[in-house]
Amino acid sequence: DPRLQAISAAIRVVPHFPKQGIMFNDITTLLLRPKVFKDAVEFFLERYRDMGISAVAGIEARGFIFGPSIALAIGAKFIPLQKPKKLPGEVFSEAYELEYGKDRLEMHIGAVQPGDRVLIFDDLIATGGTLCAAMKLIEQAGAEVVECACLIGSPKFKGRYKLNGKPVYVLVECR
Ligand code: 5GP
Repeated sequence: DPRLQAISAAIRVVPHFPKQGIMFNDITTLLLRPKVFKDAVEFFLERYRDMGISAVAGIEARGFIFGPSIALAIGAKFIPLQKPKKLPGEVFSEAYELEYGKDRLEMHIGAVQPGDRVLIFDDLIATGGTLCAAMKLIEQAGAEVVECACLIGSPKFKGRYKLNGKPVYVLVECR
């Protein structure tokens, strides 16, 4: 699909960011191209429009770029999953391992309820550790995670993402 090729080509690869040896896939260059940005959102809408999704949960910060556009277009609520101490209300909190070190994601209590069907969105999946923490937050609240979606998947970890078998939908592979 030429649209997918354009999406892939619009992602900039920045060597040695944020650390020596890491090839960082930068989506900000894609956002500078409205047609390509729109096509990317459209792919997710085609997939999720009729799946009975009631909530889209986006992971700080790049999950906040696509998540709300998808949520609005499919008539779902949007839920920010944030780094520690950013949310003012009472939160569920989940620690997870990164390639180097640890981090934590938080979600407001009451943001989702049992019966909610949730799509979790982030820009990129590598090990799946971040999305897995997000999944646990949603499930702690008693809601159902239908699927995870990312713009970019890492072929290095493909097929063994830490998602307990939950499906993940990606548009392109990282370069
Ligand atoms: P994982 O938890 O799956 O190992 O790592 C995914 C998380 O790291 C995502 O939240 C993603 O935003 C961030 N991440 C790791 N590497 C990259 C990268 O090369 N580009 C971008 N945009 N995000 C990255």
